[in-house]
Amino acid sequence: MQFTDLNLDQRLLATIEHLGFDEPTEIQQQAIPAAMSGHDLIASSKTGSGKTLAFLLPAMQRLMNNRALSKRDPRVVILTPTRELAKQVFGQLRLLLANTQFKSVLILGGENFNDQAKMLAKEPHFVVATPGRLADHLTHRHLYLQGLELLILDEADRMLDLGFSEQLAQINKAADHRKRQTLMFSATLDHAQVNEFAKELLTKPKRIAIGHGHSEHKDINKRFYFVDNLEHKEKLLKYFLENETHQQVIIFTATRSDTERLSLWLNETFAEQGFTTVALSGELNQSQRNQIMESFTKGQQKILVTTDLASRGLDLLNVSHVINFDMPKHTEEFIHRIGRTGRAGASGDAISLVGPKDWLSFKNVKGFLQQKISFAVVDGLKAKFNGIKKKKPVKEKDVSTQKIINKKQIKKPKQHVKQQVKFVDDSAGEMPVMRRKAKLAPQDIEKD
Ligand code: ADP
Ligand code: MG
Repeated sequence: MQFTDLNLDQRLLATIEHLGFDEPTEIQQQAIPAAMSGHDLIASSKTGSGKTLAFLLPAMQRLMNNRALSKRDPRVVILTPTRELAKQVFGQLRLLLANTQFKSVLILGGENFNDQAKMLAKEPHFVVATPGRLADHLTHRHLYLQGLELLILDEADRMLDLGFSEQLAQINKAADHRKRQTLMFSATLDHAQVNEFAKELLTKPKRIAIGHGHSEHKDINKRFYFVDNLEHKEKLLKYFLENETHQQVIIFTATRSDTERLSLWLNETFAEQGFTTVALSGELNQSQRNQIMESFTKGQQKILVTTDLASRGLDLLNVSHVINFDMPKHTEEFIHRIGRTGRAGASGDAISLVGPKDWLSFKNVKGFLQQKISFAVVDGLKAKFNGIKKKKPVKEKDVSTQKIINKKQIKKPKQHVKQQVKFVDDSAGEMPVMRRKAKLAPQDIEKD
């Protein structure tokens, strides 16, 4: 299929050609016609497969084809979980808006509220926003959404994770009319919370799933290494950075303070080699965040150390390696983190360091991926730790002895002995099963 088969406006086709894209990706082939025919969509496909254009193109087309429902209200609202992703989506939108009369604004938390109110007063057709800040503007009546034609949720599952469900409900309610169309996109959209939410937001949605969110991403080479402790993690990290050919590297840590500490350590350790590291975390102010992302995107920095703040959506073509210095708390973030490499057909490496504290998270990821995982070893840096083993089941010999003892002394029925043995087996692995957390700790929430 070609882009020309999609019934898109000439101006859009010209922009696509200018971008150098030969043919639509699979998700684009399926989602664009479905969205253009007016369906609500729940669409998923692997990271880096072109989901942004899959929603931007039909949105543009809808505006070009139809008269506005309202002259004042925005016609399209696109929501994303992080400011960084919103900026990126806005960037792609701006390219498509060239040669059209449509106006757009970017509304992010952490930026001047009054300036944004003024921008909204100019009646833009497109609003790209993080949900918290947009909800604030709704509350202050800086915009109305009765005329909204299209609501798009990029990385919807993450917005729910971050505790934005109230704000999303508020936005949904403000734009609650029959003619509204709603599109949801992510690489991982299959958990219960999303489905519950989808029922409220979407009307008879069409589901498009290209592969599974967690199906094999062949362009990403996943490697796992056992580690004993923090020092061991640092040694391995140093080894990879010194011995592997890499372009840019993203390192994910568990907490904000870890990003700071690790980036200081990396800058000290690699001062002589001349490559620099920056740390990105949610506690920085917006201009610091912008500066960091800008310099990393331009390639001025070799390494970005971050939390899951940067796990979603960011399209950075020179990232050859993603390193999970700590395993993610939320299982599906693994997919999104490693998806920062191997984008648009490029290949990449995803290295995960698994120590005792990461074990539970690793097990969850393993279950989620439904793949056999083997651990690699670096010569001279082999870990003593090799996973937390299940408690050994009672040995054959013990069982029979036990049976005899039971028979002789207590005369309990045979069945009881069986149960006892089974119980030993089931209790294996002392770790409790970690369920998705409905609510996150305050430090996880992307404040807007
Ligand atoms: P996703 O949201 O699925 O993770 P993005 O929309 O960020 O992916 O796109 C990933 C990369 O693929 C971007 O650099 C984008 O410009 C590029 N891309 C999008 N559509 C195409 C296409 N049809 N052909 C080639 N590259 C594309
Ligand atoms: Mg995306």
